[in-house]
Amino acid sequence: MIPFEEALAILQTYSVKQKTESVDLYHALDRILAEDIHSDVAMPPFNKSAMDGFACRKSDLKNPLVVIEEIPAGTPPTKSIGENQCARIMTGAMVPEGADFVVMKEHVETLDANHVRCTLKTSQTNICLLGEDVKAGELVIKSGTKILPSHIAILASVGCWLPLVYRTPSIAIISTGNELVEPVVKPGSTKIRNSNSYQMYAQIQQMGILPTYLGIVRDDQDSLEKVLASSLQDFDVTLISGGVSVGDYDFVPKILSKLGVNIPFHGMNVKPGKHMLFGEKDNHFVFGMPGNPVSSFVQLEVMVKPFLAGLMGRDEEIISLYLPLEEEFVRAKGDQLIFIPANPTNQGSVIPVEYHGSAHIHSYVNAQLIMEIPKGVLKINKGGQVRVRPI
Ligand code: AMP
Ligand code: MG
Repeated sequence: MIPFEEALAILQTYSVKQKTESVDLYHALDRILAEDIHSDVAMPPFNKSAMDGFACRKSDLKNPLVVIEEIPAGTPPTKSIGENQCARIMTGAMVPEGADFVVMKEHVETLDANHVRCTLKTSQTNICLLGEDVKAGELVIKSGTKILPSHIAILASVGCWLPLVYRTPSIAIISTGNELVEPVVKPGSTKIRNSNSYQMYAQIQQMGILPTYLGIVRDDQDSLEKVLASSLQDFDVTLISGGVSVGDYDFVPKILSKLGVNIPFHGMNVKPGKHMLFGEKDNHFVFGMPGNPVSSFVQLEVMVKPFLAGLMGRDEEIISLYLPLEEEFVRAKGDQLIFIPANPTNQGSVIPVEYHGSAHIHSYVNAQLIMEIPKGVLKINKGGQVRVRPI
């Protein structure tokens, strides 16, 4: 049994960025860029009209102007603007030679079929100048950025259709236990429904990964060996729930050893989730998750998610913060680090949720935070700082 912090430190040494791949812009959302992106064009790429109106010389604004052509967006001007001349121009069209001003349509009166006059004394030029937003060759998005919709727009604008991103790990989910039936089945007298698989599935989905569910495996060594051998080969990460503690039917550690899996840790001084196991073989990873749904939930949040974030280059993503306690916290024994459900208050403090231990699966239903009480701490005064993670 090792301290939780030591287990995290071990995990960090394995949580190195995965290989990269190129994905198209339909699939780039929330991925982490693995290259700097430079613009191949200036933005705007030419002096561009910001308004529908008339392009002319600023010095002619007081005079009647003859309209010499019409310039729709996407069509180049054919004439240059001389004294007392203007061109009808649309938003997004190229401003013609000679013009240094666009009068908005709304600020122009029509004199006859070919003449207009500006009704405004002053206004801004309504011209977006070549390269004023981005110069050709300029760095527009840095490697390591998480791609959000606004980044997708930039990638599209600079012609980067296939950005290089870190690969998303493939993840298998397995539940073990002779007592388990799937949710659609009404359990018999000695059975319970499998909730863990679906909870794990949803937690992984929250990270933008679609895992593969491999089903319930019975507590027998041959079945376990078969499913683990293939999932270790086929997936980057296997999450197997149950069968990792010290019961007579907890075969997972033994089978993993038999399969040649290196087990950097099994068991840590933390509650809930004491029996967590982490294994590695040829850069494929396995987490032996607690069968108990509360323990599994908490450990997936505090341990597995940061590990997966590291694989994906998303290190900065797991947030924890310190908040003051709303009321005094006291416990009888301080020999373990514990995680308990809690909520924020409107005043910015934190208040624990009623919690009867790791079998109390409803305790997290109304909790928005996981609160951490360090080993050795028996009492925290009202107003004392506690570490919390949003869930
Ligand atoms: P185990 O770690 O296999 O000893 O299981 C610990 C506890 O969690 C037992 O009460 C199991 O019945 C329960 N449990 C194990 N797997 C699941 C699961 N997939 N869904 C819900 N409860 C489970
Ligand atoms: Mg079991």
